[in-house]
Amino acid sequence: LVEVHGVRKSFHGVEVLKGIDLTVEPGEVVALLGPSGSGKSTLLRTINHLETVDAGSVTVDGDFIGYELRHGKLHELREREILQRRTQVGIVFQNFHLFPHLTALENITEAPLALKRLSKSEARELALGLLDRVGLAEKADAYPRQLSGGQQQRVAIARALALQPKVLLFDEPTSALDPELVGEVLDVIRDLAKLGTTLVIVTHEIGFAREVADRVVFLDEGRIVEQGTPDEVLTRPQHARTREFVARVL
Ligand code: ATP
Ligand code: MG
Repeated sequence: LVEVHGVRKSFHGVEVLKGIDLTVEPGEVVALLGPSGSGKSTLLRTINHLETVDAGSVTVDGDFIGYELRHGKLHELREREILQRRTQVGIVFQNFHLFPHLTALENITEAPLALKRLSKSEARELALGLLDRVGLAEKADAYPRQLSGGQQQRVAIARALALQPKVLLFDEPTSALDPELVGEVLDVIRDLAKLGTTLVIVTHEIGFAREVADRVVFLDEGRIVEQGTPDEVLTRPQHARTREFVARVL
């Protein structure tokens, strides 16, 4: 479903992705682990074209999200088309990124109203269903500042789901939360995994990765060093870098 081929990315002459190849199958849950600065967020951001790539390509269900192929070369699409295609890839960030001036419901309906041909009542219906799914049916009219971090993150997940993406990306979705709020967000992600949603999750919650991931991918200094089942990578890591990392975080 997601095909990353030979992706390279530099910032100010420093290469942070050094040729990444990664395939995510439909319904697969991939946990992306690695030390700080290894390129996890950057890799995730290339998948929905929040970052351009210097070399290589990313496709989702066969589509280049930010590019089109013309005369054998990739050309960046116009903003409007990028937004349209990006609806195929949902992303949830560490810091929720909700619109502060919109209610929970409005945060969810905003993108479908702008990008899908939904009426106001259809969008509302959709949003209420999603809020119910993340356990926040009664918070439809609350503003972000009236919600706990865990509740805000669950709204952010509902918002990402509203565009019915083919794959959902999570960048450390629980890192900004107080410990007692982590569980409610992980529960929602766990449910999505059970429903067969294709997920790529950057997380430092190793226990959670072990539990939900079909595959763990370990990134170090812009390269995939090791990947396999959670047991292979987390219990019997082959590479010294992975062993060090696992020893440090467990
Ligand atoms: P963390 O676990 O701390 O979130 P990460 O694995 O997500 O780390 P990235 O955020 O992908 O790492 O960053 C990889 C490297 O690229 C880092 O050295 C970072 O400083 C650099 N970098 C990322 N984004 C930019 C940017 N927009 N401009 C300049 N440098 C950047
Ligand atoms: Mg990061």
